[in-house]
Amino acid sequence: MLTIGVDIGGTKVAAGVVDDQGKIVEHTLRPTAADRPDLVADTVADVVRELSAGRRIEAVGVGAAGFVDETRSVVRFAPNLAWREEPLQKKISDMVGLPVVIENDANAMAWGETRFGAGRGQSHVVCVTLGTGIGGGLVFDGALFRGRWGMGAELGHMQVQPGGRPCGCGNIGCWEQYASGQALVKEARELAGTEPERASVLLGLAGGRIDGEEITEAARRGDEVALRAFASFADWLGQGMADLAAVLDPGCFIVGGGVSRAADLFIDRARESFAARLTGRGHRPLADIRLAELGAAAGVVGAADLARQR
Ligand SMILES: [Zn+2]
Repeated sequence: MLTIGVDIGGTKVAAGVVDDQGKIVEHTLRPTAADRPDLVADTVADVVRELSAGRRIEAVGVGAAGFVDETRSVVRFAPNLAWREEPLQKKISDMVGLPVVIENDANAMAWGETRFGAGRGQSHVVCVTLGTGIGGGLVFDGALFRGRWGMGAELGHMQVQPGGRPCGCGNIGCWEQYASGQALVKEARELAGTEPERASVLLGLAGGRIDGEEITEAARRGDEVALRAFASFADWLGQGMADLAAVLDPGCFIVGGGVSRAADLFIDRARESFAARLTGRGHRPLADIRLAELGAAAGVVGAADLARQR
């Protein structure tokens, strides 16, 4: 039994035919024009037609970055794709003649990782996706948790620092201002600005503009500022996970996203920070903190599997 999973990103549409073991049988990739939301549905329909040629496809699951309503059909708001109340499910379904479900992309990734990746066999999972910001997805009692209106699991916008850094969401002190790719860069830039003598490797590599890759490379070469930026990042990551555990008591956290490629520079310290801050520590089992296994495929695999369970 085959379904198609589609992952709509800010710059591209990735799609794959997926079997019921979470294996991608065939996949394809198209660029998207972010300023033409009407064309995104056409692009999705296009890739679905291409992938279903000569195959019996049961349904299509689409993961999109944005607030997807609780009926999994309308994207209420997508900051990067200019969608407002976009009836994506109906549009695509009408074009391809197959059942379609729409899901928030972080939810689709969380589901893919839980079912077929690092969370296999786990029933209570918190996925933390470390990209520019922090994305999240929750699986509880073996089911994806969406919240009442489909807007749950916005983990990056928990306020961890009252009076802290302003966030793009309009609030201040959000978790993603301290433990995301963007936060890592901000921290390293600030530290390098105030103590350039401790950032000689980093400043040498960056040549004026410090970004994530330079910070990672500089940290590997022992640059003090880069290491301190990662240490701060790790401490905040552990703090946020401890807060989440206080509320949700998961069996495991799955840490993924682009920044997790540098996990060797922060994951051990994040585990220590988590253990040191956990409510009831010493009297409860410690949740596992695992690295995501499926990489960029998680969204496609998860969306395809969610389409199977419509
Ligand atoms: Zn925020």
